[in-house]
Amino acid sequence: MAAVEHDADVIVVGAGPGGSATAYHLARHGVRVLLLEKTEFPREKVCGDGLTPRAVRQLIRMGVDTSPEAGWLHNRGLRVIGGGVRLELDWPDLASFPNYGLVRTRLDFDDLLARRAVDAGAELRTGVNVTGPVLGPDGRVTGVEAEVGPGKEPATFHAPLVVAADGVSGRFPLALGLAKREDRPIGVAVRRYYRSPAKHDDNYLESWLELRSKDSGDNLLPGYGWIFGLGDGRVNVGLGVLNSSSAFGKTNYRRLLTDWLANTPADWGMTDEANAEGPILGAALPMGFNRVPHYTRGVMLVGDSGGMVNPFNGEGIAYAMESGELAAEVAVQALARPAGADRERALTAYSTELKTRFGGYYRLGGIFVKLIGRPEIMRMATKHGMPHPMLMRFVLKLLANLTDPRDGDAMDRVINTMTKVAPAV
Ligand SMILES: Cc1cc2nc3c(=O)[nH]c(=O)nc-3n(C[C@H](O)[C@H](O)[C@H](O)COP(=O)(O)OP(=O)(O)OC[C@H]3O[C@@H](n4cnc5c(N)ncnc54)[C@H](O)[C@@H]3O)c2cc1C
Repeated sequence: MAAVEHDADVIVVGAGPGGSATAYHLARHGVRVLLLEKTEFPREKVCGDGLTPRAVRQLIRMGVDTSPEAGWLHNRGLRVIGGGVRLELDWPDLASFPNYGLVRTRLDFDDLLARRAVDAGAELRTGVNVTGPVLGPDGRVTGVEAEVGPGKEPATFHAPLVVAADGVSGRFPLALGLAKREDRPIGVAVRRYYRSPAKHDDNYLESWLELRSKDSGDNLLPGYGWIFGLGDGRVNVGLGVLNSSSAFGKTNYRRLLTDWLANTPADWGMTDEANAEGPILGAALPMGFNRVPHYTRGVMLVGDSGGMVNPFNGEGIAYAMESGELAAEVAVQALARPAGADRERALTAYSTELKTRFGGYYRLGGIFVKLIGRPEIMRMATKHGMPHPMLMRFVLKLLANLTDPRDGDAMDRVINTMTKVAPAV
C-alpha cells in the first residue's frame, strides 16, 4: 500500500504531558503542529499522579482550570514520615509558583492536556506508532515513519522539525544513536491503586522515608514510598528507589511495596488484597539529563525522552511540560528564520537554555543521589534532619525546586546560589 504523505511545521512524537505541552504552546503561536500518539485516549500511564506547585504553574500556563470544581484534588504540602517523626510541610508562599499541589490520575490528566493542545489548534492523531526518523541526504531529520491504526498501515509524515516526547523508552532518539548516559542517575518506581476511605481525601501528599529491603540486608534504600489520595475513594500508593545503592537491580520492588504496606494500619485498607485495583505496575525514572544532546539534527528531546526527571524527588511531569514550553518557544523563533545555518543556530538555544535552567540543579541532584545511596548517610539525614522543621522547610524547597529567582527569602538565596555555582551537567 502506498504511504500517505502529511505535512506540518513541527511533528511532536508522543502525547504525554511533554508532547501535549509542546503542541499547545506551538499551536498558540500559530505553528502547524501534528501531535502523533501511539495509544488511544483515555489511557493509563504508570505514575504517582502527584503534582507539585511547579507542575501546577505549567497547567496554568496552558490555561487549564485547576479549581476543585473542575475535578482537581488540591493539596497544601507534603507530609513526611521518617526517623520517628511525622512532619507536615506546607508548600512555600512564593511569587513565582502557586502555593498548592494537585492529584489527578493520568487516565484523566493526559487526555485533558491533549485536548488543550487540540483546542489551541494542534492536530492530534492517535493510534499512530512512530517507528523511526526520515533522514535527509545531510543526515538531518525531515520527518517520521509510522504505523497507523490496528492494521499498522505504513505512513510517512514530513516536517522541518521533530520533537521527541516519546517518554522513557525514547525509541525515537535511540534510532538517532542517542543512548542513555550511564553516568547520570536513574530510578525505578512502582505503584498500585487501593480503595482507602481512610486515606483518599488527604490534603497533603504523604511520603515515607524509611524503605528497607529484605533483599539488601534490611538496609535503608535511597528513595521513598508515597500515599497520594485521589479524593474518589482511592489512593495511589507506590515507591521509588534510586540506582545509587548497592541494592539497585537486586531488589524485588513489588515485594518491597507489599512488605511496606503490610505494616500500615488495617483501616487504611492497603493490607487487604481485596481493596487493590489493578496490578502493581512500574517503570524507570530517567533523571538529571540522562539523554543528551537535547537538540540535534532537526530533533528536540522533551521530558522523559531527554531524561529530565528531577533526581531530588522523582518528579517528571513539571519538567516534561516546562521543557515542552521551552522547545515551542525556541522552535517558533527558529522557524521564522530561513532553513540552514541561521535556523540551526536558533535551535541550539534549546540545549543551552535547558542547561542554564536545570544544569546546576541537576548537578547537585546527582551528588544528592550518590550521597543517599549510602545507607549510613540516609540514616543520618533522616535521624538528624527530620526533628528540625526549619531545616526540613529548606529541604522541601530544595527537593521540589521551589524558590523565587529574585527577591526571595534567605533560603531561596542559598539554593539559588548553590545551583548557580554548581557546574551544569
Ligand atoms: C511509578 C511512577 C510514578 C511516578 N510518579 C510521578 C509523580 O507523582 N509526579 C510526577 O511529576 N512524575 C512522576 N513520575 C514521572 C512521570 O510519570 C514522567 O516523568 C512523565 O510522565 C514524563 O512525561 P513525558 O510526556 O515526557 O512522557 P510520557 O508521559 O511517558 O509520555 C510519552 C507518550 O509518548 C507516547 N509514545 C511513546 N512512544 C511512541 C511512539 N513510538 N509513537 C507515538 N507515541 C509514542 C506514549 O504512548 C505516551 O503517551 C512517575 C513515574 C513512575 C514510573
